[in-house]
Amino acid sequence: MATQPLEPKDWEDLRRDLHGLLDRCVDQMRDAEDHPWQTPPPDLADRYAIGSGGDVVARVMDQVLPYHGGNTHPKFWGWVQGSGLASDLVAGIAAAVMNTNGGGRHHGINEMERAVIDWTRRKMGFDDGASGVLVAGTSQATVIALQTARVRCCPDARTDGGNTGLTVYAAEGVHNATRKAVELLGLGHEQLRLVRAKNGTIDLHALQQAIVADRASGLTPMAIVGTAGSVDLGGYDDLNGLADLTAAEGIWLHVDGAFGAWTRLADSPWRGLTDGIERADSIALDFHKWMYVGYDCGLALIADQAAHRAAFAARPSYLKGAAEGLAGGEPWFCDYGIDLSRGNRALKVWCALEMFGEEAFAAAITLNCKQAAFMADQVQARGMALAAPVVSNICVFTAAPDLPADQQSALNAQIATHLQLHHATVFSTTDVNGITCLRAAITNHRTRDHHVEQAMQAVVDTAGMLRGVIG
Ligand SMILES: *Cc1c(COP(=O)(O)O)cnc(C)c1O
Repeated sequence: MATQPLEPKDWEDLRRDLHGLLDRCVDQMRDAEDHPWQTPPPDLADRYAIGSGGDVVARVMDQVLPYHGGNTHPKFWGWVQGSGLASDLVAGIAAAVMNTNGGGRHHGINEMERAVIDWTRRKMGFDDGASGVLVAGTSQATVIALQTARVRCCPDARTDGGNTGLTVYAAEGVHNATRKAVELLGLGHEQLRLVRAKNGTIDLHALQQAIVADRASGLTPMAIVGTAGSVDLGGYDDLNGLADLTAAEGIWLHVDGAFGAWTRLADSPWRGLTDGIERADSIALDFHKWMYVGYDCGLALIADQAAHRAAFAARPSYLKGAAEGLAGGEPWFCDYGIDLSRGNRALKVWCALEMFGEEAFAAAITLNCKQAAFMADQVQARGMALAAPVVSNICVFTAAPDLPADQQSALNAQIATHLQLHHATVFSTTDVNGITCLRAAITNHRTRDHHVEQAMQAVVDTAGMLRGVIG
């Protein structure tokens, strides 16, 4: 039978090959500990050159699957990266077959995305007047939230660009996503006021003063960005304090809760870190970090659905809705964000929650906090030093506190690289008080206490080995 050239030559051959691929994928995920990051071979670019030909399924198994980013491994704690779930296999296969465009129209995705947003809304304590949209991640969610704030602040913003004197406030150390969003909205990052922080928490008095000063010079304070889980040290702003202030000042309160918002699911004392988050006007958070769901998936959650729609909805004639038929259905998520065409992000979150249950996520998040505390104990017991107290799931430390600052920095950076190359353990680094430190952000459901112990022993051993070289 002659086939269309964009169809498989033989579906039964493909079926057989896919069974092999599925077995390989299930093995790789089940045995994640045996599959750490490895340096990609130097000729990978050549192997990937378009037009190389050959059996794609076999090439994916041999040349693609091994060269992942390492974040599926139980001893991966670099940056803030999620570990991926077996439910992603279910969702990925089904999503590929359905090829859903979730921008609008009347099909299952609308209900599923609504269910995911509704569950999250309840966990965050927003009432049922809230709305949301699944996006690539917190970076995009921040743009959506701040654009919503901007249009509420200046209803003309969509028409003529609106007020040029808008200002945004956040603690120094706020994630770069906020700066990017402020730039993208055309405010310019000089309009982002970086307010002093004390122990990783925004100084409310300094914040108030900055607002007063800006108003006095004729500017319009538009939004305060509170952080729930700062990227470097895992600090949490006093969200109730921020909510009191924004309520009194009539300013939008946005919370960057990329990973830290999920302490809402954790046990005490970690849950208390996000008390007050329910009073925010908007939250940006990720499923792909501390909910462990496969990349990519974040959420912009907006307390006031009307404000959310007002910032994005527009239906030109080619997108007209209808009472019934495929052009029916509400909501159309294109009315709530940047994208018109959108993949099926809801399915992998839904599969995760339905496969494991929300209690399993709560337990994993709580466990990661305990593991960070355990890591801090290990740091101190082994003669190393914390760069800052562990608040939830981030532990930042220096391996050799006895050395001068520059030598500590060099040593810690080399330890990070050495462990990545040799021990399947991934820390990243960050600078605290002028010293480059080792940093672990535990957003990994595969991590067990013995992994933490092994890794800390490896840090000590590597430090001992490298000290000779550096000293
Ligand atoms: C990761 C992160 C972001 C950016 O989120 P993406 O999902 O990578 O776009 C923003 N804020 C914080 C605190 C983060 O950790």
